[in-house]
Amino acid sequence: MQKLAALIAAAALALSPVAAAAKGGRAAFYAALAEQETRLAAIAHRLTTASARWCPALTPQPGWILGDLRQFPNGDRGAASEIYGDADGPFIAAVAPGSPAERAGLTRGTRIAAINGDAILPAGDGPTIRIDTALVKLYTLDPAAAWTITGADGRLYHIAPAPGCASAFRIELRGAQAAANGILVRVTQKLARSIAEDDELAAVVAHELAHNILRHRDRLGGDRSAARIRQTEFEADRLAVWLMADAGYDPAAAIRFWQRHKRPLIRAASHPPRSERIVAIKAEMTAMTAARAASITARPSLVDAVPPLE
Ligand SMILES: [Zn+2]
Repeated sequence: MQKLAALIAAAALALSPVAAAAKGGRAAFYAALAEQETRLAAIAHRLTTASARWCPALTPQPGWILGDLRQFPNGDRGAASEIYGDADGPFIAAVAPGSPAERAGLTRGTRIAAINGDAILPAGDGPTIRIDTALVKLYTLDPAAAWTITGADGRLYHIAPAPGCASAFRIELRGAQAAANGILVRVTQKLARSIAEDDELAAVVAHELAHNILRHRDRLGGDRSAARIRQTEFEADRLAVWLMADAGYDPAAAIRFWQRHKRPLIRAASHPPRSERIVAIKAEMTAMTAARAASITARPSLVDAVPPLE
């Protein structure tokens, strides 16, 4: 019996450094995730606010990425809370440098208890329902007005107005590499980490944001034929050129991205080959340069005269 107890103790001793390393490994994983979220917050804030003057729908863009520990596997929540804190509710996962969120004093881990005094009380227990409830409330606000966040401790944060193209942003651990559903742009952590250059990541985010601005999901409706999807892909590539230029990113980064990525983001026959995308992007860059030379306030024609999907 004593021998068995000693064996168990020895086994526990032998295991503990491994367990500690595994725990450190998971915390490091979430630290790396938070790093990509900070990158995405910065890129998304620049892209959404810089093109606000021509975006057809605006929302407040405080310059944050929201998170919730429920997004992560049960066994990982301890490690994740080492990075994000243990807030029971939607929290700030990242803030963009110089953004209204940062200037208000919001930092990673701050829980959002209320927006403009209205408590965030989500119904349901889905992994992102509490984040989505906060976003829905945010989208009811006047994008040109100042507003407030109440933290879990009752502290009031005053957010300056920052109207931007309507979209929220999220880094996900699984799923399609990059996607847009009309209100949200999602990029996987794997894809974000594989893109070292911010301009190239901005190209991917701008493309997905363009899908949301152009309401492609709604406009496609039930008819998602290959030809119609191809048209939305070209439109998103073209509008992304303007988003990139407005935000001070190099629109040619999209070309570099496609040249490096031999495999398409979505391996579907409906998506245009990258050679055709590069031609379309180059043509739009030329058209934009000419339009802006004629008028510094030139707007993308795609937004003002949306062609029907055929
Ligand atoms: Zn696309």
